[in-house]
Amino acid sequence: MNITYDVDNFYQGLVDHGLIIPSGALGVFGRGAVFEQVLAGFNEVIDQVARDDGAESQTHPPLIDRALLEKVHYLDSFPHLCGAIHSFSGNAMQALALAERAGNGQPWGDLLTQTGVTLTPAACYPVYPTFTGTLPPEGRLVELLGWVYRNEPSPEPTRMQSFRVREFIRAGTADQVVAWRDMWLQRGLDLLTSLGLPVTSDVAADPFFGRGGKVLAANQIEQRLKFEVLVPVISLEAPTAVCSFNFHQQHFGSTFDIRTADGAVASTACLGFGLERVTMALFKHHGFDIKAWPQSVREQLSL
Ligand code: ZN
Repeated sequence: MNITYDVDNFYQGLVDHGLIIPSGALGVFGRGAVFEQVLAGFNEVIDQVARDDGAESQTHPPLIDRALLEKVHYLDSFPHLCGAIHSFSGNAMQALALAERAGNGQPWGDLLTQTGVTLTPAACYPVYPTFTGTLPPEGRLVELLGWVYRNEPSPEPTRMQSFRVREFIRAGTADQVVAWRDMWLQRGLDLLTSLGLPVTSDVAADPFFGRGGKVLAANQIEQRLKFEVLVPVISLEAPTAVCSFNFHQQHFGSTFDIRTADGAVASTACLGFGLERVTMALFKHHGFDIKAWPQSVREQLSL
């Protein structure tokens, strides 16, 4: 297939083939049945790859305790991406004012008060408090599939405000978690290559806020803490990150008092596959009609 890259045409193609369902809000869309079939097929392939690793499975809602967000200092680094939840707790008069303003299209946010929860900004956050205490000698490994929120409204289909990540989280000694992360980086490259995607990997940085954030990002790259696997989806020059592999050093270990078997502060690492992004990469490279996809790819994804 001769592939050209064009954001608008790709978005419109996904819509025209019923793969995504626009909602009106940028970066918020429904997923059609075939899109979900491909996404579920890929998720099952990850299951197979990880089957013998013995991960504990957890499931969390797309919300976290606000205190957890505060404890990990999320707002220090990513205030611009945060989704805090506010609701109404006023009296009957104020309720009327709220409804009237909303009905007239006027601002009404100042009539709300902040609740005790926020949308989940990273699928792995609810897991770290469950590691508190002393780890077994082999460390711990948890897997989950979670919805993540980012305040990044964009017409670009791979940049969503809400998306799913299939994530694995490891705690142990620094050597254990780095070896595990590097093993998964190779697994990720092999897996996506086997699905016919032209992948590369590179060191990367998180989208830290502001001028101080530039220093943090440079530090992250210099210490090679974060790697991404990239596939061109909307641009050849700026390929899309479809999975990321992160070494947090002792950041969460010290925050949540996680200890290795010999009593040292534990290290953690996490890795996540962006399920919608991988699915879009497959549609980009194999076409909008799954019946025309290479037989080997269809078989692997049980399509
Ligand atoms: Zn994570």
